[in-house]
Amino acid sequence: MHAIRNIVVLTGAGVSAESGIATFRGPGGLWEGHRVEDVCTPEALRSDPALVHRFYDLRRAALGGVEPNAAHHALARLDRAWTGELLIVTQNVDDLHERAGATRLLHMHGELCSALCAACGTRTPHRGALPPGSACAACGAAALRPDIVFFGEIPYRMDRIVDAIGACDLFVSIGTSGAVYPAAGFVQWARERGAATLELNLERSAGSAMFDESRLGPAGELVPAWVDALLAAR
Ligand code: NAD
Repeated sequence: MHAIRNIVVLTGAGVSAESGIATFRGPGGLWEGHRVEDVCTPEALRSDPALVHRFYDLRRAALGGVEPNAAHHALARLDRAWTGELLIVTQNVDDLHERAGATRLLHMHGELCSALCAACGTRTPHRGALPPGSACAACGAAALRPDIVFFGEIPYRMDRIVDAIGACDLFVSIGTSGAVYPAAGFVQWARERGAATLELNLERSAGSAMFDESRLGPAGELVPAWVDALLAAR
């Protein structure tokens, strides 16, 4: 295998699990007690905006009681030390990667701490509750919604992600079930471009067979060990 210079890391809900944030497919296939269709679709937002806004208000408020874990810290350490290209693409809507210090980071599914204007598309940092009908500071429309990419909507920055995967030598997937597209297809793109592929996950995922190597265990142990070995091998 050629030397590793350019790395893309994809993270999912599993990387934040040890911080105490529930993964998507918790007990009974529910997310914090809700069917995904009821809180994570444009239809849900239209039919019951109060429920959808309250759901994300609670997720946003819960961020105050959690801290980045060893996996977030290890990725931030990699971000600081890696002299080649690095892009951390997270499907997570929490802010734990940036609170650990990661900067080469992109939230493809939106962010809890941001509001999106459904009228003009402006995205604004947002803390606290976001009641339906909140006014956009840019255009004045009473149209702010949680800045979350719902099922059926297009993830953010796909152009940047496609470019980074096209140029990477190593693609690493951490704590993601491989069930949500297009992220679940990234490993295939990386393979087609000749990158090495590594999965770090608690258990085998839907995409495990696609990776050159799968390491099974908690992200809080696997990620620091992988980062240490990678930095030591430079
Ligand atoms: P998922 O819940 O579908 O899958 C999580 C994966 O992580 C599973 O394969 C599970 O085995 C693994 N896992 C659980 N605990 C782990 C640990 N300690 N260490 C390593 N792996 C562990 O999540 P997903 O694949 O990210 O897709 C779900 C969608 O849900 C995402 O789009 C995301 O936006 C949203 N979501 C985000 C958050 C968050 O921001 N923290 C939380 C829940 C859901």
